[in-house]
Amino acid sequence: MSITQNITNIRTHIPSNVRLVCVSKFHPHESIIEAYQAGERIFGESKVQELCEKYESLPKDIDWHFIGHLQTNKIRFIVPFVSLIHGVDSVKLLEEINKQAIKEAKIVNCLLQVHIAQEETKFGFSESELLEYLSIGKWKDLENIRICGLMGMATFTDNREQIQKEFSGLKTLFDKVKLSFFDTSNYFTELSMGMSDDFRLAIAQGSTLVRVGSSIFGQR
Ligand SMILES: *Cc1c(COP(=O)(O)O)cnc(C)c1O
Repeated sequence: MSITQNITNIRTHIPSNVRLVCVSKFHPHESIIEAYQAGERIFGESKVQELCEKYESLPKDIDWHFIGHLQTNKIRFIVPFVSLIHGVDSVKLLEEINKQAIKEAKIVNCLLQVHIAQEETKFGFSESELLEYLSIGKWKDLENIRICGLMGMATFTDNREQIQKEFSGLKTLFDKVKLSFFDTSNYFTELSMGMSDDFRLAIAQGSTLVRVGSSIFGQR
């Protein structure tokens, strides 16, 4: 199947209130161009250098999302152009992004990553860490950060029930955080969950941004 056919298939499962992030990491420029010509405009990358190279060479109306684990010393390379950083997994990282954003006179859109999986290797705030951090309120001083929502990755498992439970837990947390801290804001709207194997489950649980790689571009 071609990239264009894959996109057509996937699109049939994505309602209009959910946005598709085409995860193009490790895939060549030609593949991105094919998806672009099929109408896609949001692309996700997980390595800073690769993202910067692709940004330089590819059409300027692409919305680039950073979906990986971001190191503080590399923030400055992506702040000038990135449209959303999905995986902000620590207070320190959020504060460093704010510093770079001030230098660039930019507002940077971020999602806070929540650790919903059973694997220890995955990153993110625990539910209690997140609620504690938000209730202290220091995030409001980060004037160049816009917290647009939450992001999470389910456990790598064949157990659909387990995955569904994790997504529905994240949706519950999202609603709670929205009500408690962002009730008057109109930008805390995004819930990034779901990948190739589980995006339909994620949409059923309230995802607004699905990050789909291999089902579009194949394995790399
Ligand atoms: C690679 C990656 C994806 C895409 O995964 P697929 O299974 O290829 O769809 C989604 N989210 C993150 C954070 C990733 O690193």
